[in-house]
Amino acid sequence: MSQQLPYSCGAIEPLLSGYLDEELTQQESQQVRIHLASCPSCQQQLTDLTAIQGALRSELPQITDKERVMAIVNDKPSLWMQRFGWLLLLITILPLSAYGAYVFWLDTGVPVWVKWVVSGFWLGLIVLFLSVARQRLIAAKTDRYKRVQL
Ligand SMILES: [Zn+2]
Repeated sequence: MSQQLPYSCGAIEPLLSGYLDEELTQQESQQVRIHLASCPSCQQQLTDLTAIQGALRSELPQITDKERVMAIVNDKPSLWMQRFGWLLLLITILPLSAYGAYVFWLDTGVPVWVKWVVSGFWLGLIVLFLSVARQRLIAAKTDRYKRVQL
């Protein structure tokens, strides 16, 4: 019977992180303490583990930053103002551009090729606008999923 085995590095190393988190039984943590007193290698490992845990803890403020961002994103007044802004933009831009296109195409003083180039320019703008609107819609949907998860 080799009674030294529970006190070997191989037996103590798996216990070290539990020792740090105070999750061990009284007997186990006493074993760790006795072993640490005479083992520089395991002392070093405990120091490393403490450093890693400290680094993890220093990352916690990033999570609260995320929550802060979520609070800003989920702010109801800004959401409604954004919706109102987009709605107003859509309502006004549609008749305005329709009227502009109508007048522009009827203007005989403008060469036909200029009409096509300007129309292409506006079509490009409209497509870009639609892609942004679509992305905003998808973003709003995923936000709702996040809210459900919280
Ligand atoms: Zn050791």
